Amino acid sequence: MAQREEIVPGKVVQLNEIVRRITAPNPGMMTGPGTNSYIIGTDRLALIDPGPESALHLSAMLEAAGKRLKWILCTHTHPDHSPGARALKAETGAQVLGFGAIPDDGRQDAAFAPDRALRDGDTLDCGAFRLRAVHTPGHASNHLCYLLEQQKLLFTGDHVMQGSTVVISPPDGDMAVYLDSLERLLALDLAALAPGHGHIIEKPHDEVRRLMAHRMKREQKVLDAFQHGNPATLDALLPLVYDDVSQRVHPVARRSLHAHLIKLARDGRAVENSGSWKLKA
Ligand SMILES: [Zn+2]
Repeated sequence: MAQREEIVPGKVVQLNEIVRRITAPNPGMMTGPGTNSYIIGTDRLALIDPGPESALHLSAMLEAAGKRLKWILCTHTHPDHSPGARALKAETGAQVLGFGAIPDDGRQDAAFAPDRALRDGDTLDCGAFRLRAVHTPGHASNHLCYLLEQQKLLFTGDHVMQGSTVVISPPDGDMAVYLDSLERLLALDLAALAPGHGHIIEKPHDEVRRLMAHRMKREQKVLDAFQHGNPATLDALLPLVYDDVSQRVHPVARRSLHAHLIKLARDGRAVENSGSWKLKA
């Protein structure tokens, strides 16, 4: 697979015989090189994650897929993944598919309205290929990965990104659920992961195990941070738990820290009292 070339927005990259990638022009701290849209097929085409509303990206997708586009699938409804579906559907008449429910946390593309709501295990028969929805809540409660069955290629959206760690933002984001959804991937027969941001990931199970270990290591840092003060506030814990990452990302890391604390509370190991967290003895 072509992959280690620098990711350039708008450039069509052929990843294998039937999968192409175009990256939206929305690079950033949360989006890496930008949101990946994947085009699958050679005749009747499916596209996964049309990305944000962007005239540039819309014309790039139309040029690459055009009228052959029949299906637009969204992994979840964060604003860098699904809003592009509306204009793309208007131009092509393609059917829009995704998980039905939209979380009410103010971080969603609230106007997302799939023509077909998918649930875990649902399949989409595209003639030459078939996609299967795998419900993977945690980053977002309505997150679906899509498995391209004959190639064992899993499109992971924001469940797994390449190059950075996924943010878990409570209340819709849930660390315990996220870990369960990572573990779920270990039960799938996979050849590679095609993430919503970054390059193709080979050895998918190794990567999933690495990510799970990374989260558990972070949880241990949360537990250790209480040695400096117990109870402690999120803001007191933040620089201790994330002393290995740039302060620039601390506002975002703070959300994942909150998700870790909620998990510890649910595990019966911590308790929250008006913004202060106490580790139980
Ligand atoms: Zn997301």
